[in-house]
Amino acid sequence: MAHPPIYLDYHATTPVDPRVWRAMEPYFTARFGNPASNSHQFGWEAAKAVQRARQQVAALIGAEAREIVFTSGATESNNLAIKGIADRHRRHGGGRAPHVVTTTIEHSAVLDPCERLEGEGFEVTRLGVGRDGRIDLGELERALRAETILVSIMAANNEIGVVQDMIGISGITRPRGIVLHTDATQAVGKIPVDVGAWQVDLLSLSGHKMYGPKGVGALYVKTGTPLCCQLDGGGHERGFRSGTLNVPGIVGLGEAAEVARAELAQESVRIAGLRDRLRERILAGLEGVVVNGSLAHRVPHNLHLTFAGVDAETLMMSMTDVAVSSGSACTSAARSASHVLIAIGLSDDEAHRSLRFGLGRFTTEEEIDRAAERVIEAASQLRDLKSL
Ligand code: PMP
Repeated sequence: MAHPPIYLDYHATTPVDPRVWRAMEPYFTARFGNPASNSHQFGWEAAKAVQRARQQVAALIGAEAREIVFTSGATESNNLAIKGIADRHRRHGGGRAPHVVTTTIEHSAVLDPCERLEGEGFEVTRLGVGRDGRIDLGELERALRAETILVSIMAANNEIGVVQDMIGISGITRPRGIVLHTDATQAVGKIPVDVGAWQVDLLSLSGHKMYGPKGVGALYVKTGTPLCCQLDGGGHERGFRSGTLNVPGIVGLGEAAEVARAELAQESVRIAGLRDRLRERILAGLEGVVVNGSLAHRVPHNLHLTFAGVDAETLMMSMTDVAVSSGSACTSAARSASHVLIAIGLSDDEAHRSLRFGLGRFTTEEEIDRAAERVIEAASQLRDLKSL
């Protein structure tokens, strides 16, 4: 009997955990109320569910419930954070061109809002990273100016899984009173995230990267952060984000956060073990394979490899029963080399010989062994074909 395909693309998206789905389901049907309807029990029930979810999300990241703003996902959270700080500055600032610092390895949901601000007269510094995928804290410090209003640095990279030193970063921004945002979409639920320890002002997260549904996310907004809303309307979410709340999605995000909080410690050890097993097996079975990015500072479920003499697209096509990715899903339609791999010093050619493996909650040891075998077999065949 043919094996079912192996899903190793958990960075692109995760399945909804059955516990999450069970929690959400009634809010599509029986409990359909609008949480903004405060004159009857249908509304109260929905509002109560949203409040519970707010507490669940807050508890996972060490925030207060009132600091959680529900959004449609991390793209919106990032846009709200970056443009919201910029707008506030436009209204209350003045003087010389305001300055924003970010990195070259951000997701396009941070890079593009920053580019838009640049087009509008802001100055933007994009910090590079070393071969290990991490920024240099000294370089961050030197990049800051009197006009710097915002630093936005991702907590964990979506391609190479490298984790930045958020405590070290806030140790530089906080004494200068600069607002710090982090896109923690790939970190929340994977590694311990604590906004108190990290000392960040704004933090983006997304439901579908943590076994919750797609189309829901949140922005943590530390009390007192000077943020302007981007969606005007009924003044929902304490005025930060108008629009009738996606109650089933929010309930799902809350439940996903609750499960993550309970299971993160154990789960990350199990998944890191499987990731190391995958790496060891592939490296033992194939010559000329290089691991990209720091192994020490990395989310447990990420492995990123460059294969000598093997085109990644061709490799993926020759093992269609293993679902992996050669770039982030959002950019894989374009065949240009990943900006993250170029940033860590790979050539265009090396970038095109690289694959991302993303493990997750439902990955089994048997799948890892089979995936390693398929990679070794497919890469060896392609190399043999080339040498004919
Ligand atoms: N930031 C990062 C680091 C991501 O990996 C993603 C999803 N690929 C996003 C932002 C966008 O998240 P969403 O799909 O929730 O808009």
